[in-house]
Amino acid sequence: MSLLLENFDFVRPTSLEHLNDLVKDYQEKGHEFTFSAGGTALIPKLKTQSFKIDKFISLNGLKDLHNVKKEGFYITIGALTTLSTIANHELTRIYLPALAHATRKVASPQIRNRATIGGNIMVDNRCIYINQSSINRECHSPCFKADGDVCHLVKSARRGDEVLCQARFVSDTAPILLLLNTKITIAGPKGPRKIKLGDLYLNDGIDSKSIEPGEVITTLEVEIPENTGLHYEKLAIRNALDFPSLGVAVRITDKDLSVALTGVNTRPGVFRANLDDYNTFDDMVSNISKQAADFGKTYNQDFFPRAYRKSMIPVFIRRGVNSILKDQT
Ligand SMILES: Cc1cc2nc3c(=O)[nH]c(=O)nc-3n(C[C@H](O)[C@H](O)[C@H](O)COP(=O)(O)OP(=O)(O)OC[C@H]3O[C@@H](n4cnc5c(N)ncnc54)[C@H](O)[C@@H]3O)c2cc1C
Repeated sequence: MSLLLENFDFVRPTSLEHLNDLVKDYQEKGHEFTFSAGGTALIPKLKTQSFKIDKFISLNGLKDLHNVKKEGFYITIGALTTLSTIANHELTRIYLPALAHATRKVASPQIRNRATIGGNIMVDNRCIYINQSSINRECHSPCFKADGDVCHLVKSARRGDEVLCQARFVSDTAPILLLLNTKITIAGPKGPRKIKLGDLYLNDGIDSKSIEPGEVITTLEVEIPENTGLHYEKLAIRNALDFPSLGVAVRITDKDLSVALTGVNTRPGVFRANLDDYNTFDDMVSNISKQAADFGKTYNQDFFPRAYRKSMIPVFIRRGVNSILKDQT
């Protein structure tokens, strides 16, 4: 098993202009490059050689992207802000406590001290057949995500299929951010653009993000919720260091209920139900729970049995709803 990094050049631009110039230059010369923020997901991936690069671009020199600010009805968070900062920052604790709570669910304190929010929403999809050493991967034939020709979970999958790879989406912060209608600003050689966070995510486990090569996320704009209860619950074997086998965020306002899922599909799932469309609140919860459970694909790619993960989706939704209602009384 190789845990050594291959050689690459390390560069650390200090402005977005410098970054864009580097990207243009590397693209023209055909260099393979990657961006690193905290490096907590990227370095293990480079060590296990699931991909190779010749230029390692550290984003940490972009000083303007390490901040949390209140701007009107929004909290803006620089993409390089660490998860520890978000968990402890006065503005997030006052205005976005559910996000502060979700960041504390990521990995461990040491990792959260380095890991950034931009890296968390961009974290690569995972599967037990790809997140292994190269030697381990060679014991199976390489899967599609390892440039091979098979999916060990869905044997019938063929190149050209809409969803080629079932590697699952695992960010712990994305569900709450999605329920807070977060928008992200993306910068790149073609100039900046702003999109809804939900539009970042695609169906396939290999090409799982809509970001173009050379583009970076610079800022998250998170809506400050009003008259809202929010809750995030995570299923993992251990309280620290394990990715979510399932993560469920629940939001209740006086008019509607929304739910967002992580860990059970190639992208996050978001479901909304309007109270006016149901006879009772309970009917609304049952209906949204059914939609969410149907979305959970739960292949055998995790510690927990697939049926258990699926069956926990409605349980976590009920738990979230009950916890919010209890806090409101
Ligand atoms: C042992 C262990 C346990 C973990 N547990 C969890 C967990 O429980 N929950 C969880 O959500 N994650 C977990 N992680 C994954 C990871 O630590 C976090 O997701 C972390 O937030 C990633 O942030 P980072 O800054 O370190 O990203 P990096 O590792 O630097 O980058 C991750 C990816 O995002 C890209 N990227 C980073 N920043 C940007 C940006 N601004 N714009 C565009 N692309 C960008 C990188 O190119 C890379 O592809 C775990 C990792 C480890 C090693």
